[in-house]
Amino acid sequence: MNIVIIGSGFGGLAVALRCLSKGHKVTIFEKLKIPGGKASWFEKDGYIFDFVPSIITAPWLLEELFKLFNKNTSGYYELVKLEQLFKLYFNNRNIFTYSEENILREIKKFNLNDINGYKLFNKITDRIFLETFSFLDNPFLTPGSILKTLPKYLKLKAYKPIYKFVSEFFQNEYLRIAFTIQPLYLLGANPFRASCIYTFLYQLEKKWGAWYAKGGTNTIIKGLCKLFQENGGKIYYNSEVTKILCKKKKGKPKAIGIKINNKEKIEADVVICNSDISYTYRNLINKEYRKKYSDLKINSFKYGNSFFIIYLGLKRKYDNIPQHAIIFNRLYHQFFEDVFIHYKVPEEFILYIHRPTAIGETVAPPNKDCMYILSPVPNLKSQTDWSNFGERYKNLILEFLEYSYMPELRENIETEFFITPEDFKDKHNSFLGSAFLYECTLFKSIYFRPHNKSEDIENLYFVGAGTHPGAGIPMVISSAKIVDRLIEKDFKK
Ligand SMILES: Cc1cc2nc3c(=O)[nH]c(=O)nc-3n(C[C@H](O)[C@H](O)[C@H](O)COP(=O)(O)OP(=O)(O)OC[C@H]3O[C@@H](n4cnc5c(N)ncnc54)[C@H](O)[C@@H]3O)c2cc1C
Repeated sequence: MNIVIIGSGFGGLAVALRCLSKGHKVTIFEKLKIPGGKASWFEKDGYIFDFVPSIITAPWLLEELFKLFNKNTSGYYELVKLEQLFKLYFNNRNIFTYSEENILREIKKFNLNDINGYKLFNKITDRIFLETFSFLDNPFLTPGSILKTLPKYLKLKAYKPIYKFVSEFFQNEYLRIAFTIQPLYLLGANPFRASCIYTFLYQLEKKWGAWYAKGGTNTIIKGLCKLFQENGGKIYYNSEVTKILCKKKKGKPKAIGIKINNKEKIEADVVICNSDISYTYRNLINKEYRKKYSDLKINSFKYGNSFFIIYLGLKRKYDNIPQHAIIFNRLYHQFFEDVFIHYKVPEEFILYIHRPTAIGETVAPPNKDCMYILSPVPNLKSQTDWSNFGERYKNLILEFLEYSYMPELRENIETEFFITPEDFKDKHNSFLGSAFLYECTLFKSIYFRPHNKSEDIENLYFVGAGTHPGAGIPMVISSAKIVDRLIEKDFKK
């Protein structure tokens, strides 16, 4: 079969490799001049910055893609195990180091009585993990599929938000924060609204470790592209798909190809979209073919948060900052209210810093430093004029960091730039500039998420963070496995 894929994020590349390994002709069309989407990168003045993802979990899901071609990952990318995952700075005195090895010591530091709570939390999240991990391979296309799962969900108390769930195990407020913040950065989850099933993330890290790719996550993307091209796959860059061509005779319309840059038409037996689903339905598919995904329906969904990200190349090193730091300068609950409910840009923030040079990485020139600073902000529903506000917001953040954690920061900046929700929208075609598309809630999970197979159009499939099972590299790669199986089933003669 002739399969075309729109977009070269982790999802697009993973499904491309799976389809290629089955002997199909596979071509990827990517809007940007480099691959990777949210896992792409920037090179500036001798510094290399990953766009966003920095932590790799369940690395065997990536290894599976290499096994399809009887290869292993060596020669493509190299992973380093992280001994310490995060350091959380509640203020200069209260610092929680999140590492598997020392977790009990750290909990004890905050509240001795919470040790037993942690042990129980571990046991229950392990149960959640075992139940939910099997969801990752299942397409959930029918209402029947959710009915079958419902009892399990009820047993796991999936209706409970993460914060409420975690609070049952920990009395100390800092510990409650420490065990609820992570899903925000990996899944876009507001812990006060997202289901506690997303605590399976903690077990994902525990079971298979948390890893960093030497040279950055971009090296994995480059490795996947290399594997794809070595085996005959083709990727075209600067090739924005501007239309999904459909034909309707009887029954559902059928995808028959795509249009590139409003010019060239490419025929295909199957079209797989790695592009943002809401953007794709609204902009690439004529209204007449969209019975379910009308503009009205797409607008009615609740979209997740975005990010303001500052990338810094620095003349000196800040060795007091670890590889992954989360810095709190805000009341926790209020912060999420502002970002997710009131669509208000928080002027006191919760910042996540990724500093790869902390583990001796060579992504900066010798003796120099490099990091990104990420502030969760509302999506574009906030009506913020980022072209004006961006510079001011950057200065607010840098001023705070300079005063509290990194002295003389601004005078040591050698290179800098920032990304706003407008960039997520314009460069990555993210609907409302949302970094994770739909808000991560129970009612936008499994069956309730847009399906991996279009409900409106035959021969059209979806892979990546917007479809089931959701955002985060392991989930996105799992969506590729699902799509590959669906195509195999649908086209079996
Ligand atoms: C701030 C942040 C931090 C994160 N950190 C982590 C982490 O540490 N670990 C982790 O596991 N996950 C992390 N994630 C999640 C993870 O990065 C994403 O879920 C994943 O990279 C998304 O991959 P994807 O394949 O769904 O799509 P994307 O990466 O969004 O790729 C989609 C591709 O489609 C292209 N495209 C769009 N429209 C068109 C068009 N019309 N024509 C052609 N091409 C098009 C885009 O240019 C892009 O290349 C993080 C996410 C964010 C936002």
